[in-house]
Amino acid sequence: MKDTQDPRTLSARTRAVHAGTRRSQYGEVSEAMFLTQGFVYDTAEIAEARFQKAGPDEFIYARYGNPTVAMFEDRIASLEGTEDAFATASGMAAVNGALTSMLRAGDHVVSARALFGSCLYILEDVLPRYGVAVDFVDGTDLDAWNGAIRPDTKAVFFESVSNPALEVVDVAGVADLAHAVGAMVIVDNVFATPTFSQAVDLGADVVVYSTTKHVDGQGRCLGGVICGTRDFVRGVAEPYLKHTGGAMSPFNAWVMLKGLEHMDLRVNAQADTALHLARSLEGHPALARVIHPHLPTHPQSALAQAQMAKGGTVLSLDLRGGKEAAFRFLNALRIVVISNNLGDAKSIVTHPATTTHQRLSDETKAILGITPGLVRLSCGLEDAGDLLADVMGALDAAGAA
Ligand SMILES: *Cc1c(COP(=O)(O)O)cnc(C)c1O
Repeated sequence: MKDTQDPRTLSARTRAVHAGTRRSQYGEVSEAMFLTQGFVYDTAEIAEARFQKAGPDEFIYARYGNPTVAMFEDRIASLEGTEDAFATASGMAAVNGALTSMLRAGDHVVSARALFGSCLYILEDVLPRYGVAVDFVDGTDLDAWNGAIRPDTKAVFFESVSNPALEVVDVAGVADLAHAVGAMVIVDNVFATPTFSQAVDLGADVVVYSTTKHVDGQGRCLGGVICGTRDFVRGVAEPYLKHTGGAMSPFNAWVMLKGLEHMDLRVNAQADTALHLARSLEGHPALARVIHPHLPTHPQSALAQAQMAKGGTVLSLDLRGGKEAAFRFLNALRIVVISNNLGDAKSIVTHPATTTHQRLSDETKAILGITPGLVRLSCGLEDAGDLLADVMGALDAAGAA
């Protein structure tokens, strides 16, 4: 792509390969990894000027910014459709940074209850310690959002597709209620993936990702990103993050930047596999439920169809035989590995009740649909037929004992 080409006229697939590229004097084709903490100033006057106000492509220290990190930020902002983005050390640094940078004591937040464990920790434990009041609602219930949002509500927070029960939140519906009182809409969009996301078009003000998941896509690095308006990203999030130390390393940014080049291809293939497995497994005698946002039996199926071009790369299975059957199932899988990441090229199975969501009380687990028999399956890039055979074989083993 030549500098003269306006990237906004190009499709997402093209922007995923070219947006944000900064070429050094060597004219490298593949983006350079600027593995440097600091930057040399030719004179003391230049250093003074840069600390007063750094220009668009002027860097001071890697905690504030770095050329490789900037390439990644520009590329993902272009894909998400936001003016800017700030890359963080992990998904949790992004969630924490987005919320903590904009909130202060006395503020009120409304959050969906069905959250990733560490997100729940921030909203339930950390924010109240600093005087922020947080009310939790069933994210799928617009009446509940309406009842909880107050004239002084500062922000609403939710996962557009929840982990691990795959509940779908009506982004536009919640955004309308929030915007009516001037509250910010902050969406954790991991399960929707940047590829299938329309969160900004639907009214999200800030979209956060754990780039550890589909953006890396090969299970190598931790990372996160906060996407939003330039005012929010540079005026609110960046000052907080650059001084509190949540910056992404240039090495990780390079991995994420290269991951974006083929994310669309990977995520589309993985989502096709997830839907194929979900359809093939529905009605299996060992399963009480098969959960996937694009199955007609999903409670928010119509919303999920309208809101996401594909239903994502994850499906959840509720085994009739409870924890014992779930464990037999996990242990009998031969291709799918037992771990807790998702969006990886390798298919991964998780038993949330005893791992990622172990901390929750039995009551909360029940509210969130985290039954003893629930397993979460993140579909990788393996052949869909091989995966289905692996899952079918393990279901036989799970039912046999
Ligand atoms: C994984 C995940 C996070 C946290 O991301 P890390 O990169 O592990 O810090 C936050 N939200 C959701 C929905 C996730 O799946």
